[in-house]
This record gives sequence, structure tokens and C-alpha cells, in this order.
Amino acid sequence: MADRMSFWAWGLESEEPTEADRRAMAEDISRRYGVAVTPRPIPDLADAELRPPRVTPPDALAGFCSTDTWERARHAGGAHFTDRTRAFNLDFPNPPDFVAHPSTDAELAAVLDWCHDNEVPAVPFGAGSTVVWGVSMPDGADRSVTIAMDRFDRVLEVDETSRAARIQAGVYGPALEAALKPSGHTLRHFPQSFRFSTLGGWIATRSGGHYATNHTHIDDLVESVRMLTPAGWWESRRLPGSGAGPSPDRMVIGSEGILGIITEAWMRIQARPRFRATAGVVFDSWMAGTEAVRAIVQAKLWPANLRILDPAEAGRAAGLDGTQALVIIGFESAELPQRANIEAAVSLARDAGGHIPDENIVVDDGTGAPTGHEGPVGAWRSSFIGVDPGTATSLGLLADTFETAITWDQWPDFDATVRSAMNRVLGEVCTHGELSCRFTHVYPDGPAPYYTWSGMGRQGSEISMWQEVKDAANEVVVAAGGTSTHHHAVGRMHRPNAYDKQRPDLFADALRSVKKTLDPNGILNPGVLIDP
Ligand SMILES: Cc1cc2nc3c(=O)[nH]c(=O)nc-3n(C[C@H](O)[C@H](O)[C@H](O)COP(=O)(O)OP(=O)(O)OC[C@H]3O[C@@H](n4cnc5c(N)ncnc54)[C@H](O)[C@@H]3O)c2cc1C
Repeated sequence: MADRMSFWAWGLESEEPTEADRRAMAEDISRRYGVAVTPRPIPDLADAELRPPRVTPPDALAGFCSTDTWERARHAGGAHFTDRTRAFNLDFPNPPDFVAHPSTDAELAAVLDWCHDNEVPAVPFGAGSTVVWGVSMPDGADRSVTIAMDRFDRVLEVDETSRAARIQAGVYGPALEAALKPSGHTLRHFPQSFRFSTLGGWIATRSGGHYATNHTHIDDLVESVRMLTPAGWWESRRLPGSGAGPSPDRMVIGSEGILGIITEAWMRIQARPRFRATAGVVFDSWMAGTEAVRAIVQAKLWPANLRILDPAEAGRAAGLDGTQALVIIGFESAELPQRANIEAAVSLARDAGGHIPDENIVVDDGTGAPTGHEGPVGAWRSSFIGVDPGTATSLGLLADTFETAITWDQWPDFDATVRSAMNRVLGEVCTHGELSCRFTHVYPDGPAPYYTWSGMGRQGSEISMWQEVKDAANEVVVAAGGTSTHHHAVGRMHRPNAYDKQRPDLFADALRSVKKTLDPNGILNPGVLIDP
């Protein structure tokens, strides 16, 4: 059998942590936190007791639908800590009744029509990398199905003149890039989940790539979209720009599967970069480092990378001593050498108090020499790319991230407020609580801070303990003026106590009206963005 996704870990079955990995992790946790931790055996899906399907696919759909246990377990949730913990515990309280894998417009229309006619909730599924419960079945529904887009998996056309490509929604990141590479192009959209996420998921969630400034959001790259709704097809015109009223694409981008199922999009592509330059600038103070980042982004140099890691994160992920912050600056271009840009950015960073010896500025003049793969920048890069598959799952360790954005004028107070609230709740809920921060994206008017937290909880109570910390994070981020999410999306996790509090009430009403027009029976992803 081909290597398929693990039903509980992040990655393929062949990449799952082994019993030995988990024993070593348990010993490490016991040593670090002074508690005895016993790893439970890696679960066997054959031991899972899933609720029998409450509805089975009709004959007309049966050829591309499945009620197989692995299919229903794999599509029962996403990739969040809580999803993985539940799956590891073989706890699948609400799996889909069946999973559809349409491969043509006709098959997709057939299953969507059937769901509409029979009022069966349908959850669109890209690769299931959601970390906000975006693909979970709705609570309280008496039947529900997953519509998986993995067979819409091709790059259909490349328009080299306009630099755009027509790409199906279910293509995973690596396959998409592999298809563009022969013509020398790239979509240049690399979320950390790139290996196991799809174009349709990126568009539906307004994902953020790992570049820090300029064209890094999927929003910037969409030229037009094709989407099937229960009321019919929605297809926008290919245009480089348009002032013709509100943008139809804006309605689709970020719709999180509640308005329709994206089948394909024309995406703006670009020539693959050849010239690169990288520097890691060290700061004695976190706030001085963030000021340097502001100076660089406001100078409109548009570095591809412009991140700052706070001292805790720079210590853990980049090998610094835990007292200094690290600003990572990177430029790249297909056309122009980047030495002048990196020197200008480093000069601004030095003016703000940063240290970097000249010899640590690495410039690739287009000959293909790798850049930025050594020193603290290289260490951080490896830790960013090498996502752990979940070795610590169900060992009592709590860990999560939350991300937001805030204007520069509010930033210092915002950070202090968030840290104070989070350190308080971590102290109340778990032991050895730790919080760190980096910027994932920066704008001339503000940064997108990304907080990572962890703490030692109790084995078996991980999810309820996590929920207490998450409630506090949702609360403080929105109360302090930030957004409930910068790029992880809303899903079922960020509402009602975060997203619902930040959006205008009239906007929520307008969204409900749009949904009623496109999805009159309210079958698509109920509970996401708005109440069913
Ligand atoms: C380790 C890790 C790192 C991550 N890093 C990033 C990051 O750097 N940047 C970032 O933005 N996110 C990140 N995420 C979150 C996640 O990868 C993104 O939200 C991603 O865009 C989801 O894509 P997917 O194909 O897996 O969609 P899914 O998880 O399958 O679905 C996500 C949402 O989109 C809807 N959807 C999916 N496909 C379609 C479609 N064809 N039509 C309509 N609706 C659809 C679903 O119903 C759901 O609401 C990360 C997640 C993990 C686990």
C-alpha cells in the first residue's frame, strides 16, 4: 500500500514516531519536569470503535465514496494538538459518516447536490492541516460527510506570458512546485505546512507563506477562482487588477469552506529566485530588535524574510544564549543581485543597536552557492522546516501557538499585556510554563507576532488543560486590540469568544445573507465563521 498520512501524527505513516522515540521523549520530559511519564503504546486503528455510519452513499456516488475506518478516522479532524491527542487516544466522537473523493466537476456536483437535497452537512477537506478545527464535523448534526479534494490534483495550464497558472484545488505544495519547476516558475507560497496542505486549503484559509513582507499571502497571488456552491458555479474573470466594485475573489478567499468548494484557481507565479542574501543580527533587547524590524519594513526594502525571534525563541531554535534577540533578514530575486539591499537593511539594524560582523552577511551572487544555512539563521531554518510529527503526544506536555497582528503604535503595550495574561494562566494551569514570540510577517503599519507556549500538564487531561490556556489567549489577544488570527484561520476554534468579538455585527449579518444565497440549506461547514 502506498505511504498514506498517519491518522494521528503529523506526516506519513512511515514517519510516525516509534515506540523508542516516545520512550526517549518520555524520559526527557520526566527529567526536565521532574514527573514520572509513561508512554502509552502507539495506537492501532483496528482497536478504534467508530460510530457506525448513520448514512451511506447512494449508488450514484458509491464509486468515489468510502466508509472505511481509516478514511473516516483520517478525516475526523485536522492537525492541531487537540486533534492529534484525540486521534492518538482513538477518541473519534464525531467522524464523518462517509468520505467522498470526487475527481471531476460532475462527481463533485453530484455529491454536493445530494448533500443539498438531503440536508446533509458537508465539510470540504484539502489536506487536513487545519489547526483551528476547520474540518471537524459540526456538533449536533445527525449526519455529516467529508468532501475531500485530493483528486483535483493537477496543474492544468501555465501562461508564461502573463506569469500565471491554472491549478486545481487539491494539489499539495510539493506537487504544485514540481509541476511549475520545468518552466522555471514558482508560486513562491511556502506555509510551514507546505508538504501536507493544498492550494484550495490555502485559499479557503487566507494562508500566510513563510516570506515576511510583500507578496506572501495567498490573497496576493490569486488572479481568479472557480468554486462550486449549492446554488451553482462561481467563477471570476482573470484580471491583473480591477476596480469594478467589491472583489468577488475577496469573498472566496478566507471563506473556510462555508460558501462553496474551490475547484481551481488561476494563480500568479514568478520566476524562481537566483540571487539571495541573508544576515542574522543580534540584539541585546527584544524591543530594540522590534524597532529595527519596524525601521527596515518602513524603509520599503521588502526583504523576503524579516523575522525577529525573542530571546527565549532565539535560545531554543537558533542556538543563542537566551538573553539576546535575533533578527533574521533575507532578500531574494530572480533578476537583481541583492548585496545593496542586505547592506541597507543591516545598516538600519545596526543603527537600532544590532550587532553583526560583516563576514556574517552572506551574499549569493547567482552562482547557486547556498546561503543562510549556517550559524543561528541556519539553525532557526532547520527547526522551522523540521516540524516534529508529534512524538510527545499524550505524554502530558501541553504546547501550542497563537498568532495575531497589531499596529506598531500598540505593539509594545500589546506584547506586555499578552505576556502578563499568558504567564498568569500558564502558572495557574500547568507547571514550567514557557512563552516565546517571533514575528512571522511584518507590515509597514505593524507586525504579526506569533506566540509559542508550552507547559507540563497531566497525562490524560491534556485537552481540558489546553482549553483553559487557549480561552485566555483568545480573550487577551482580542481585548488588547489584535486580530483573533493572522493566518491560521477562524475554524471552530476562534469563535465565538474571539472572531465574533472583533468583526462588525453588520458584517456578520451580511455574511449570513451571502451564505443563504449560495448555500440555502446551510450544509457547507456549519459552525465555521458563523452559526449554523
Ligand atoms: C505544522 C503546521 C504548520 C502550519 N503552518 C502554517 C503557515 O505557515 N501558514 C499558514 O497560513 N497556515 C499554517 N498552518 C495551518 C494550515 O496548514 C493552513 O490553514 C492551510 O492553509 C490549510 O490547508 P489544507 O489544504 O490542509 O486545508 P484543510 O486543513 O483541509 O482545510 C482548511 C479549511 O479550508 C477549507 N477547505 C479546504 N479545501 C477547500 C476547498 N477546496 N474549497 C473550499 N474550502 C476548502 C476546509 O473546509 C477548512 O475550513 C500550519 C499547520 C500545521 C499543522
